[in-house]
Amino acid sequence: MLGGLARWLRAAGYDAEFEYGIADRALVQRAAKSGRILLSSDGPMFERNVIKNGDIRALYVPQQLGKLEQLRFVLGELGLPLRDPRCMACGGQLAEVPKHTVMAEAPPLAYRNCDRFWRCAACGKLLWHGTHWQRITKRLKQIAGQDQDDA
Ligand SMILES: [Zn+2]
Repeated sequence: MLGGLARWLRAAGYDAEFEYGIADRALVQRAAKSGRILLSSDGPMFERNVIKNGDIRALYVPQQLGKLEQLRFVLGELGLPLRDPRCMACGGQLAEVPKHTVMAEAPPLAYRNCDRFWRCAACGKLLWHGTHWQRITKRLKQIAGQDQDDA
């Protein structure tokens, strides 16, 4: 239910995993195995003993919130700071790559306008500080209350 939230958590620097339609039982097992905090909007999920006992850390995320409100809620509830962004597609770590190495691959407009490029170590996706990135960064800062310019 929280795929959009997972993408935003990755942008905020967290290795969020998301699988569409995963069964409750599989989700709980995966959280236990990976040590991740389980986020869910599914009320009955929180009736499970492993969660009630605190064996698995879990947080109920109100589904009626928008994606960004969900992100604000999760960062606030868990006391998480903004970190270096991770790949929004898969949560992999981003490594900066020299501009000249991406000439053939980057869209011409991005290559012309941007100086810094990053590649996801996990899925290979190429990223750059274009308008999309700037919009995301701005919203993350607003959420974290770090956007002093607009205050
Ligand atoms: Zn990736």
